[in-house]
Amino acid sequence: MSEERLQKVIANAGVASRRKAEVLITEGHVKVNGQVVTKLGTKVDSGDEVSVDGLPIEKERLAYYLFYKPRGVISAAADDKGRKIVTDYFKDIPQRLYPVGRLDYDTSGLLIMTNDGDFANLLMHPRYEIEKSYVAKVENIPTVQAQMQLRKGVYLGKRKTARARVNIISTDKRKRTAIVRLTIHEGMNHQVKNMFKAVGSNVVKLSRESLGFLNLEGLISGQYRPLTHQEVDLLK
Ligand code: URA
Repeated sequence: MSEERLQKVIANAGVASRRKAEVLITEGHVKVNGQVVTKLGTKVDSGDEVSVDGLPIEKERLAYYLFYKPRGVISAAADDKGRKIVTDYFKDIPQRLYPVGRLDYDTSGLLIMTNDGDFANLLMHPRYEIEKSYVAKVENIPTVQAQMQLRKGVYLGKRKTARARVNIISTDKRKRTAIVRLTIHEGMNHQVKNMFKAVGSNVVKLSRESLGFLNLEGLISGQYRPLTHQEVDLLK
């Protein structure tokens, strides 16, 4: 868990409402690592021991879900423009979940949702090199040469992308479009769209179909399922 405000941690543990938790704190009922804390907004993380009237609170249970994100949804826990956000789909889940990485607003596909910050950081670390497969509909069918460039790496600003796999699934010569699978193991901002742009193609539709050994089998857009213990362990 990343750092969170004390009153929120107490409320999330089901001890009291957020409001009541604030009263418990200011009235001196709450200890963090054995010390009474009366300041609202004190930040704590999962390593801190929080107790209320001497009783340790139950930590929020760790939760892991595989979500089929629809297009037209923001991969964040809030949006200042009032658009639909991924957490809108998890209102029945007591934990406060957030997405591991991001998919663009107009990108659909596989997104992991969790409240386990260590797990999220691990998965997003470039050294972890988890494979992500995307299926893109592009305008301007990539030539054989463009496909080679995508495989070997293209420059996005100053950075060159690592080796990638490219498979042309189908082409429509009349419309000059192609469906292409691109498999990468990095996660730069808008990476897939920018890689195609770098070789002269324009992504008009994008979906992430897999992440490591996980795929969207059995789910339709907007649905989610819990990850099994085994899946979580294998990803760690
Ligand atoms: N690459 C992109 O360009 N967009 C995404 O949403 C994911 C990868």
